[in-house]
Amino acid sequence: MEELLKELVEKNRKFAINGNVANYIPELDKADKNALGIYVTTLDGQEFFAGDYNTKFTIQSISKIISLMLAILDNGEEYVFSKVGMEPSGDPFNSIRKLETSSRKKPYNPMINAGAIAVASMIKGKNEKERFARLLDFAKLITEDDSLDINYKIYCGESDTGFRNFSMAYFLKGEGIIEGNVNEALSVYFKQCSIEGTAKTISTLGKFLANDGVLSNGERILSTRMAKIIKTLMVTCGMYDSSGEFAVKVGIPSKSGVGGGICSVVPGKMGIGVYGPSLDKKGNSLAGVHLLADLSEELSLNIF
Ligand code: GLN
Repeated sequence: MEELLKELVEKNRKFAINGNVANYIPELDKADKNALGIYVTTLDGQEFFAGDYNTKFTIQSISKIISLMLAILDNGEEYVFSKVGMEPSGDPFNSIRKLETSSRKKPYNPMINAGAIAVASMIKGKNEKERFARLLDFAKLITEDDSLDINYKIYCGESDTGFRNFSMAYFLKGEGIIEGNVNEALSVYFKQCSIEGTAKTISTLGKFLANDGVLSNGERILSTRMAKIIKTLMVTCGMYDSSGEFAVKVGIPSKSGVGGGICSVVPGKMGIGVYGPSLDKKGNSLAGVHLLADLSEELSLNIF
């Protein structure tokens, strides 16, 4: 397995040349464009890795699945989906236009920014500090990594440059989708995007979902129904407006982030964490998607 991973990393690294590292924050622009790494964690406890699996990066949009889990645990499925839809938007992750033009006055799904900011507003706590502390503790629990923390420089960059996110959040407040304090919701959202980890972190997260929401020690955190909801939304909306093509090419529930990470879930089998910061036009890791397509083919991981 390790040989296969090594071979596939070296084969797919070349695709990075056609993409670009996220540069809306100077700090993100510092990533090595040619980096590519993978970490596989199987349900029976085996771990395999290759390439730049140990490089730290911010999980960005991958955090959207973590906050969705906690928001549902805090508020119940019915409440959360009364505020956020379950349909792919077909638009870029930071798009604003459908918020006003669609007949439903709620974000299309929790994987686009508007939906994720609404979800962040639902995390319980007496103030912003407590809400994010609960989210970070929950992230530590399900990634089984106690050292998890935010990259403070990136958090500052997110809040200094996130003007579209501010505008969406205020619009959502006006529509009654966000009930609490808008700036607190934004701050939780920017912090969750700035959580830093490695391919191993997101591989363990993938394994948690592959194991139906049960930790390695056997403790059940999510109901089977909740785990199904998250995995389904990963398939339909997890790769932004490339989710359809990715489902055809790779066929594995996955969530990407503009930090270059992809968290993939092979139900009943394994979690996969990929890191490759050179992104395609939609914001997905270019070499990472190629690598996952090859691995899916080699190991017959396509869930369809
Ligand atoms: N922080 C980024 C944003 O809000 C994260 C989005 C992403 O990974 N797609 O725009």
